[in-house]
Amino acid sequence: MFNSLSDRLTETFKNLRGKGRLSEADVDATVREIRRALLDADVAVSVVREFTAKVKERALGLEVSQALNPGQQVVKIVNEELVGILGGETRRIRLAKNPPTVIMLAGLQGAGKTTLAGKLSKWLKGQGHSPLLVACDLQRPNAVKQLQVNGERAGVPVFAPHPGVSSEFETATGDPVAVARAGVAEARTKLYDVVIVDTAGRLGIDAELMQQASDIRDAVNPDEVLFVIDAMIGQDAVNTAQAFNEGVNFTGVVLTKLDGDARGGAALSVASVTGKPVMFASTGEGLNDFELFHPDRMASRILD
Ligand code: GDP
Repeated sequence: MFNSLSDRLTETFKNLRGKGRLSEADVDATVREIRRALLDADVAVSVVREFTAKVKERALGLEVSQALNPGQQVVKIVNEELVGILGGETRRIRLAKNPPTVIMLAGLQGAGKTTLAGKLSKWLKGQGHSPLLVACDLQRPNAVKQLQVNGERAGVPVFAPHPGVSSEFETATGDPVAVARAGVAEARTKLYDVVIVDTAGRLGIDAELMQQASDIRDAVNPDEVLFVIDAMIGQDAVNTAQAFNEGVNFTGVVLTKLDGDARGGAALSVASVTGKPVMFASTGEGLNDFELFHPDRMASRILD
């Protein structure tokens, strides 16, 4: 009956209007509701603990207003804290002063990197940029082909190694670091102003793979390193995000598969443990299923 956190807190506090300060017992009842809502949204347990402690501290000092139900006041606090952790304002891509801007994608296999590369390139093209996709996922047999298909759909060229074909790329064949470097050089010569580097992922965190991603980062010195994470990952979000943060020191997060049932708790977990902003949301398999991430909308989704 009272599905959203807002409804539940309003109900919890319906007799408290104009009561003065909230007591510890009142606040504990609130914190229980908030904890339940966040766990339902699959926010990591450690993040829930830290978050509720912060809300409790603010709620304890709260002067209950005559005008607002205390539940509404607490919801406002929860909302402000959520939006703050999720990055406040939507963060835009940082463009290089001297093009090309280099954007590197990293994340587990299946997170949606290659799909995102196509979407991001199309979106950037729509904004008047001239992007180049660079295929550095040489781990998965079909990844280069998949990027080429996405590039074709987006109308964006793909720089990829061609095994056995004699070209200036031949030396790059098989070595993702060399492909990345050659791709950026290609963009510089042919005047593409944004380079999107797709990298390999594994099903689990893997030291060799992380080293490869880190080597690519060192080789092309990206302006943005976007960590791509499936919103359905649930409680594994924290470990995965920490591993990638240590491995490639990403600058922003892209949350994928938000068209599914996931309430988006992963966004809060990742932003909370890494302090990095979520920048984009991927909402389907199509090239246009992509949007800027809005912290306030995600806060509502988590609390709903
Ligand atoms: P990668 O291994 O990280 O490059 O992942 P892919 O880009 O190959 O994506 C893995 C699968 O997830 C593919 O079947 C994609 O079509 C699908 N996918 C990617 N992004 C989304 C999304 O936002 N929503 C849905 N429903 N599927 C997605």
